Amino acid sequence: MEATLQERVLKPGRNWIDGKPAESASGKTIDVINPATGDVLSTVPRGEAADVDRAVAAARRAFENQAWRDLKPSARSKMLWRIGELIEKNLDELARLESLNAGKPLKSAKNGDMRPAADIFYYYAGWVRAMHSEVIPVDGPFLNYTLREPVGVVGMITAWNYPMLLAAWKVAPALATGCTCVIKPSEMTPLTTLRLAQICQEAGVPDGVVNVVTGYGPEAGDALARHMDVDKIAFTGSIRSARALMKASGESNLKRLSLELGGKSPNVIFPDADLDAALPAAFWAIYANKGEVCSAGSRLLLHEDVYDEFVGRLVDKARKMRVGNPLDPQTEMGAQISQTQLDRILGYVESGKQQGAQLLCGGERDVEGEKSRGFFMKPTVFGDVKPDMKIAQEEIFGPVLSVLKFKDEEEAVAISNGTIYGLVSAVWTRDVQRAHRLARQIKAGVVWINTYNGFDSAAPFGGYKQSGFGREMGMHALESYTQVKSVWVAL
Ligand code: NAD
Repeated sequence: MEATLQERVLKPGRNWIDGKPAESASGKTIDVINPATGDVLSTVPRGEAADVDRAVAAARRAFENQAWRDLKPSARSKMLWRIGELIEKNLDELARLESLNAGKPLKSAKNGDMRPAADIFYYYAGWVRAMHSEVIPVDGPFLNYTLREPVGVVGMITAWNYPMLLAAWKVAPALATGCTCVIKPSEMTPLTTLRLAQICQEAGVPDGVVNVVTGYGPEAGDALARHMDVDKIAFTGSIRSARALMKASGESNLKRLSLELGGKSPNVIFPDADLDAALPAAFWAIYANKGEVCSAGSRLLLHEDVYDEFVGRLVDKARKMRVGNPLDPQTEMGAQISQTQLDRILGYVESGKQQGAQLLCGGERDVEGEKSRGFFMKPTVFGDVKPDMKIAQEEIFGPVLSVLKFKDEEEAVAISNGTIYGLVSAVWTRDVQRAHRLARQIKAGVVWINTYNGFDSAAPFGGYKQSGFGREMGMHALESYTQVKSVWVAL
């Protein structure tokens, strides 16, 4: 199985440009690591400006090619559908690859990464034939109508926590609207993105429409962000990199941006909630994908009446969590992505202790047996966290839960809104009026009521405040891959 996987992801040293594997200009490479063992899984090119230039040129040629522009909607729709089918056909292989590269349990790679990645292509296959423009009543003897046209060549820069899915969320609406793209996946997790490009070709996507250049952010990523012939950057990652992208856009061709950034999301539990339902939801809100989730419910806000009981049950559950080999079907939590990330998480644990939060469980690296080779962390809960502590303000991106206490609705809203982020949120209550009140008062792109982590290809996802702008999925994503032209005809 391993040998086949290595073959299918292109042997070391290849980007994917103009429908085929491409040598990198410099010949330099990056090691791709298996975070569960620390072993080198593969190597990929350390792409630079010259590689990005080649890929953008291919994407531009493909974009200007009439065959791509004028592809019949029915044929475009079928093409997207075929990509979805091919992802499903290769589901086991892709999930295993993601599991090996990102350290996530195989089962979640299948259900939480690959199935939704296939679904987003099915979803936008439908939109290809449903998108249409308007005729607008204007004064005078004129016919005014709009054309919705693709923005052009899109640079896609993605994070390492859901490599395939984050790329799919961008590639699917791009292809549906007639854009072409150059993807720069995270240097840590490029393997499934390279496979996705192959799959697109197998599905009949013309050469040059989907290109991949692997490499580091400040090198290949920056070259893409500053390229004068890239019309848009679709980005998922940190606020720090987003700032660099905005600067690069400002200093080059004012390319448009859509930014999916981090979160410090509040999960608010009132005493009238169904606590038996809220408990496992709060647990998975923080520990799914080892806490490396932009939408992690990393701040648990508990009403003072239920605080002690709820925290007790949660800590009990966290202590029993099965942390281990991501390929083992029994495993519930895999390895953090890298030593650097593990060190960052441990740094936050220290900060929590120093600032007076109460460490209730975990708080250290998991080095039991074989796990000592990889980057494993014990599920961690901090109680008595105050809203101004670093562990209540900053995104940790690891399995560390900060539990805060509140006394009433007003305080719950103030704490919820008291960070720079606004990606997602959740409210647990049986009071329907309160639920809808909070849905309006919380400043976040998503509010879940009596549930957590509901995702659907049809539902828009994206942030308020410094969690970013632009939306992925749903009809809303189509807007950021198209531009509107107003046509006037004298009658
Ligand atoms: P990151 O910003 O370090 O890297 C993201 C991507 O940007 C990588 O491909 C990286 O190589 C590239 N990059 C870095 N510096 C760059 C530069 N100067 N110019 C161009 N590209 C550059 O983020 P990360 O550590 O990979 O991911 C974690 C972050 O992503 C977290 O903040 C998380 O919340 C966020 N995230 C958000 C979503 C969402 O949908 N909102 C989803 C997943 C992750």
